[in-house]
This record gives sequence, C-alpha cells and structure tokens, in this order.
Amino acid sequence: MTPEALDLGILRPRLPSPLQAVVDERFARHGIRLFLKRDDLIHPDLVGNKWRKLAPNLRAAAGRAVLTFGGAYSNHLRATAAAGRLLGLPTIGVIRGQELAERPLNPSLARCAADGMRLHFIDRSTYRHKTEPATLATILSEAGAEDAYVVPEGGSNSLAVRGCRTLGEELHGQADVVALACGTGGTLAGLAAGLGPGQRTLGIPVLKGGFLDAEIRTLQHRAFGGPRGDWSLDDRFHCGGYSRTTPELDAFAADFEQRHGLPVERLYVAKMLYGLLTLTEEGAFPPGTTVAAVITGAPFTP
Ligand SMILES: *Cc1c(COP(=O)(O)O)cnc(C)c1O
Repeated sequence: MTPEALDLGILRPRLPSPLQAVVDERFARHGIRLFLKRDDLIHPDLVGNKWRKLAPNLRAAAGRAVLTFGGAYSNHLRATAAAGRLLGLPTIGVIRGQELAERPLNPSLARCAADGMRLHFIDRSTYRHKTEPATLATILSEAGAEDAYVVPEGGSNSLAVRGCRTLGEELHGQADVVALACGTGGTLAGLAAGLGPGQRTLGIPVLKGGFLDAEIRTLQHRAFGGPRGDWSLDDRFHCGGYSRTTPELDAFAADFEQRHGLPVERLYVAKMLYGLLTLTEEGAFPPGTTVAAVITGAPFTP
C-alpha cells in the first residue's frame, strides 16, 4: 500500500471537534466561563487524542504492520487495534504482564483481540527495558514482527506530538486557559505548541511521580526543536496514581455526568475536571477567565 492509498478520510473523523459551552454554577459564581472541547466525538473507535496521535503514525506506517505497547486497560492499544480493523492493517500489541495472557482476557484486551490485534505478552522487567535497542530487537523478533512500524507506549512520538498541534490551533481565540489530563504528556506538548499568544495550557497528570515536566520538555524538543507555548502542570489530582480513584472523585464524576449529560471517562477526564473545579474554588483563575476543558476520551464500554 502506498502512503497516498491510506486515505484516513475514509474514517470520517469529526474535525474540528465541537466546542460546547456548559452552564455550571460552581464555575459561574467565580466568573469562569467553561467550555468542553469534545475530542471524544472525533471518532467512535479512535477516540479523542488517540485519533490526533495515531493518524500521522498510520500514514507513516504506509501499510506495514503497526506494533505498539500497553498495559491491561490501555486506551491507546484499543484505538490502535480499532484502526487496524478499519484500515485493514495488521496490528501487534505488546502487553505488560504475562499473567494477562490467561483466558478469559480482560474486556479491554478482548476488544483488541476481536479487532484483529495480535497480542504478545511479556514480563514486566522486559517491558521496562522495551525502549533499549537490544531489548526492542528481541521483542520484535519474538513477536515475529521485525518489519513492523513501532509506535511507543501511549503513542507519544514526534509525529504524534505534531499531530496534537491542531488541537491548539482549533482553540485559537476561544479560551484563555486550556486544561487537559496528561499521561505521557504528548498531547499537552503538541497542544501548547498550537495555541496562540496569550493562551495557556494547564496539565493535570494522572500518574504519580512529578517526572512529567522533563518528559514534556523532551517531547517538545524532539518534535519542534525547543520549548513551545505557555504551559504548566498541577500534580495534586492523580488520586494516588494511574487508575486509582477515591470515593470523592467517583461521586464528582457521577454528578458531572448527571448535570451535563457527558459520559466522564474515569482514568483521565474525571481527574482533570475535578482539578479544574478545585482550582476554580481556590481562586486560581481571575473572574472573566474562559476555560476550555479538553475531553480527551470517552469511557470504555465492553
Ligand atoms: C491516552 C489518554 C490521555 C493521555 O494522553 P497523553 O498524550 O499520553 O498525555 C488523556 N486522556 C485520555 C482519555 C486518554 O485516553
């Protein structure tokens, strides 16, 4: 297949994604106008930022098998598997944890398999070293995928980061502050680069660790040759780490769904919205501020 033959238009992405005003008195009483940037509506299977990050990589793969990495409930793996099904591309998922190979597969991995992704399970220690050339070569050979196009865990390579710049461009003149949840930080790295002067990006990391500042700087350096945009992170809302939650967060998310009819994805989006409300109540945004909350994904329904 030639790159030109891989016309992603056949997937009919909804771009630019809709920007919706929400009326929520908890923000309004502090003079904050809240908008939702509905990236969750871009595509039913390549949801949210996964579309923006994968599309340029699918073009670059130009019909080769796509191999990528993920954990037990990875949104990135499901999106890659769905892309493979829709475009007729072979996909291989390298999964962290050999115990996950036991049947029945969990619903997320079962969906990947049903979409035709070949699953290759490796132990956690090998997984940790997967970016080292020798380890990667062994993984590719054991998976029988030496010729595959490799997308890193979470999908955040330079093509993906540049792909997320359009998210910022779509928001030109629409918001003073743009908030989003961060895993690898690839989406933030691109978004911040795409925004206009006077706009700033606020990232809410969902992993514990405080390492993300440096990672985002590295991602921007690789993708753009240096720092871009005005961005910062607030590390207080990870609730203990990836996929951890608290009763308070659950109650907040369920209530937000009720109020606004928005299905709230729990691993990322819930923490971002919760962080945004907390910051608003702390007076972090001057009255008159317009905030756009990026809805980077939708809940997975098995
Ligand atoms: C993958 C994902 C993210 C994280 O994106 P990064 O580019 O890795 O920071 C955020 N929200 C949702 C819903 C996701 O699936």
